[in-house]
Amino acid sequence: MFLLKTKPIIGISSCLLGENVRYNSENKFDKCLVEEMSKHVTLLSLCPEMESGMTVPREPMDLFCVDGVYRMITLKSHCDVTSTVTEWIEDRLQELSKVGLCGFVFKAKSPSCALNSTRVHSGSEIYSNGRGLFAEAFVERFPLLPVEEEGRLQSDVCRNDFLEKVFRVCRH
Ligand code: SF4
Repeated sequence: MFLLKTKPIIGISSCLLGENVRYNSENKFDKCLVEEMSKHVTLLSLCPEMESGMTVPREPMDLFCVDGVYRMITLKSHCDVTSTVTEWIEDRLQELSKVGLCGFVFKAKSPSCALNSTRVHSGSEIYSNGRGLFAEAFVERFPLLPVEEEGRLQSDVCRNDFLEKVFRVCRH
């Protein structure tokens, strides 16, 4: 079904690959997804929080909507670390534009990586459908690339649909 001379390259949140880059020094290895995807594509690991210079372990953080703008703020010391990630994003996206990426698999519920599932504090309300800072910038920069969170790709139908889109992008 997916025939090309070389495998397409798609980005993936590093913790899904089993790298211990999460705030608590753990990972979210998704063995089935990684094994299935690796049959068809080359996975390029990327962790916005680590690559932008944050430590492991680090304080957990959430997005807060301040004057209509998302800020990334740590939950204990209430430090605004937005600029740590956003200053790194532009350079990294520029590098990615030269790699020939054909898609991205994002980790759900992350203030950096989630596509539509991270917590956002807004006044006294907390929503759970926010988009992480890196995911937002990625989608804006590469609007034609297929993107998904890992949860939807557990379904064979969704995963095959995503791979079809990846291969379509890769052929052009
Ligand atoms: S969700 Fe994204 S930022 Fe958080 S640990 Fe995984 S790759 Fe890093």
